[in-house]
This record gives sequence, C-alpha cells and structure tokens, in this order.
Amino acid sequence: MDFKDYITIIEDYPQEGIRFKDITTLMQNGPVYKQAVDEMAAFAADRRIDVVVGPEARGFVVGCPIAYTLEKAFVPVRKKGKLPRETVDADYGLEYGESSLSIHRDAILPGQNVLITDDLLATGGTVNATIQLVEELGGNVAGMAFMIELSYLNGRDNLNGYDIFSLVTFE
Ligand code: IMP
Repeated sequence: MDFKDYITIIEDYPQEGIRFKDITTLMQNGPVYKQAVDEMAAFAADRRIDVVVGPEARGFVVGCPIAYTLEKAFVPVRKKGKLPRETVDADYGLEYGESSLSIHRDAILPGQNVLITDDLLATGGTVNATIQLVEELGGNVAGMAFMIELSYLNGRDNLNGYDIFSLVTFE
C-alpha cells in the first residue's frame, strides 16, 4: 500500500515555506489507518518493547494503537505544565518554534525497553527531547517508529545509533 496517497500536503501551513503533511486524511480511512498502525507495530514486535512513548498530540494517535496492539504500556510525553505529578523536563527546538517536553518521573523503570513513536520525523528535535527524557529515567530506546520521515531535514543524522522505522519518506 502507498500510504502517501492518503497523506495531504498543505502549502505554507502553519507558516510560509512549510509544506505541512496532514495525516488526518489517512486516519479518516479506517482500514488504511489500521494497516499503518499494524506495520509500525510489526517493527516494534521484534524489539522486546515494554513501553511505548509518544509526544503529544500526534504521537498519541500512533503510539496508543501500537501499545494496544502489542498489549504494552503507553506513556505520554506532554508540553511542560500539563502532567499532574512529578516530571522530568527537556527543552527542544521545532521545525518552527521552540518548546519544552515533560514525562512523569515514575513512568519508566530503569532497563525497560522503549519504543518512541510520532507521526512525523522532521529535524529530530522532538524525538531527541523525548530520547533525553526516556534515558534520564533509565529507559533503553529500543526503536523509533514514524508514519512520515522528511529526509530533506536530515533528522536521522541527529539520531545515530538508534533503530528507526518510517512508513513513508518524503525527499
Ligand atoms: P521535529 O521535531 O523537527 O522532528 O518535528 C517533528 C514534530 O513536529 C512532530 O511532533 C510533528 O507532529 C510536528 N511536525 C513538523 N512538521 C510537520 C508536518 O509537516 N506535518 C505534521 N506534523 C509536523
């Protein structure tokens, strides 16, 4: 299946010069959304994952159904100030803007194998901050799965040594 057929590209959103990849049109097709999740879960199934971690909000859209499929835990990473209990935090830069991410301090046990998921890998800033949080808690990043990789932003170059899967790549 060519998942690209179901992803919509919006020119100059959210600001001029950005070609935004919209996965909501993929999700509007139930069998295609399921197939996308299944292929990402198949990558994870070989990697002895204990916990799936995803940054808000689209990391939940892919991470929760993968965790459900694998019958594993899901741990949310959220913008700073959104989680109710004690957190660890990491600052990061986006393709457009800057932010800070948080995870609950007790969400991952030392030595647990973690799959990090998000809808899209661009510069790698979001996933790098997420790796920082997971590793600060003693988790082992056993793999990362994305629906989309924008290879022209070279996010992969900042993720040396990690096992990365993406369903589709835009060059
Ligand atoms: P990065 O941190 O530069 O790798 O950007 C990835 C993050 O920004 C992900 O959490 C995406 O949800 C979001 N993002 C960046 N560009 C796009 C896009 O074109 N479509 C959808 N999300 C995007």
